[in-house]
Amino acid sequence: MVKLFRFLKPYRWELFWVLLFLFAQSIAELSLPTLMADVVNNGMMKGDTGYIWKFGAYMLLVALASSFCSIVGSYLSAILGVGLGRDIRDSVFSRVESYSLHEFDQIGTASLINRTTNDVTQVQTLVVMGLRFMVYAPIMCIGGIIMAYSKDQQLTLILAVVLPVMLLMIGSLAKVIVPLFKAMQIKLDRVNLVLRENLTGIRVIRAFNRLESESRRFKDANRDLTDNAIRVNKIMALIQPAMIIIMNLTSLAIIWYGGIRISQNIMQVGDMMAFIQYAMQVMFSIIMVTIMFVMVPRAQASAIRINEVLDIEPGINDPVQSITPGIQKGLVEFQDVTFSYPGAELPAISNITFTASPGEVTAIIGGTGSGKSTMINLIPRFYDVDSGAVLVDGVDVRQMSQKELRAKIGFVPQSPVLFSGTVSENIRYGKPDATGEEITHAAEVAQASEFITAMKDGYEAQIAQGGTNLSGGQKQRLSIARALVRRPGIYILDDSFSALDFKTDARLRAALKKETTTSTVIIIAQRVGTVMDADRIIVLDKGQIVGMGSHKELMDSCVVYREIVSSQLSEEEIA
Ligand code: ADP
Ligand code: MG
Repeated sequence: MVKLFRFLKPYRWELFWVLLFLFAQSIAELSLPTLMADVVNNGMMKGDTGYIWKFGAYMLLVALASSFCSIVGSYLSAILGVGLGRDIRDSVFSRVESYSLHEFDQIGTASLINRTTNDVTQVQTLVVMGLRFMVYAPIMCIGGIIMAYSKDQQLTLILAVVLPVMLLMIGSLAKVIVPLFKAMQIKLDRVNLVLRENLTGIRVIRAFNRLESESRRFKDANRDLTDNAIRVNKIMALIQPAMIIIMNLTSLAIIWYGGIRISQNIMQVGDMMAFIQYAMQVMFSIIMVTIMFVMVPRAQASAIRINEVLDIEPGINDPVQSITPGIQKGLVEFQDVTFSYPGAELPAISNITFTASPGEVTAIIGGTGSGKSTMINLIPRFYDVDSGAVLVDGVDVRQMSQKELRAKIGFVPQSPVLFSGTVSENIRYGKPDATGEEITHAAEVAQASEFITAMKDGYEAQIAQGGTNLSGGQKQRLSIARALVRRPGIYILDDSFSALDFKTDARLRAALKKETTTSTVIIIAQRVGTVMDADRIIVLDKGQIVGMGSHKELMDSCVVYREIVSSQLSEEEIA
């Protein structure tokens, strides 16, 4: 929690004013009962109407001043709280953006969303309330006791009995409630996780008739959260009536004992009334402080979760001094590269060495799980190699700035990702300043223009979140167009033809070839037909290169390749 206080720094002036106004408010409120005692003792009891009017007006002024301070104080602390929330959210978000994929796996998407939203709100609420209570409550409590003592010392004994009882009660309630509060965030994470999975996986859930079990899963998580919240609120609900009873009993005791003292002429009526008000103020401030102490653990848990996000150092960083390659062509080299995922026993790929030159098509083929995607994810530096090096234009990717490196690459991921927006916005994603012509050209090369123009609004047609209103092949072609519009030096196509029919596949490859004559093209594919006429085919098996060369060479030399080919082509096609 304390660590997050650094976010208060830009708000030091607001902070100063909030504290000042709250201070003024509490002083004003403390002086009101004394003024009232004066009015009662010196005005009412003596029948001095002039005195009543005069001090009555004073009281009104003080009350107005206190309301004014309260309003301004609340307003400023609200500004401060909301601003603080925004700043923390901003910095959590930008930290998450700098994460490499490892760190994403580490915390999980649902939790990251929660931490950016709900957890920040918890901290924000506590800061706003805390500010109020921190100044207001101690002044009211200590000031109230002093003022009460000054009114009548003997009556103060009542407070000396009541306050410890009250503290004891609140303390024991807090002991029960604090762990429940802490559990809240974790249970909320769980609800979010299940909800997210349900929303994104709704097709699969329906197809496999898992609606019931899924809704049971959600209900369980939801009930868990609800039960916890209900338990918390039950206890919280207990606090209020208990406090009211204690307060009323206290008033009663003061009136009874005070009455005796008044009849003995030791005390004045006004002082007794003021004493009651001071007692109430003291007790109220104690309740306030306890509410805050109950809230602190929850916000503390949230603060820890936020700090966790902020403290993770992204595993992939720009070098202190980045090197810009002299040549700008798109040469990709792997030098004895080995890489394993964290926690995995065996490396996902090992001892990979090859060169993909500009103007050439390098194809990678291999069974599922053989490490193809892993291999090409190393080029844009989504992950760092364990040993060996990946070089682009002769410079190790770890020595380049990530921005510069990725600007060279047109990346088409294995599962196409589209964003909500229009078709042209999605293609323009690859090059923000692309002209309309460039966009239509890219779509034409990607064999996408036909289905785009067939859509109702053509290039301005809306794409749903995640591209759910397009077919798999259409999504693939749009994400290819998005890469093409950049005209990068390196094209990486991860199994991007898998959902296309053979005819479109062939047409796309022919168009692509014309478009990429000076670029390095790396294609991952499952179909032999797609890779056959590549300049170089790399055959991957269990993370290792088992063959490299042209189709012809591999047919002669590589057993794995021959097996793949014969599983897909008929005898005469092979011949
Ligand atoms: P391919 O693209 O050839 O089908 P991948 O490169 O995706 O294969 O996967 C290679 C291996 O790495 C698989 O065994 C897979 O289980 C593992 N793997 C892939 N992605 C991850 C990840 N994010 N974390 C841990 N292991 C992974
Ligand atoms: Mg793959």
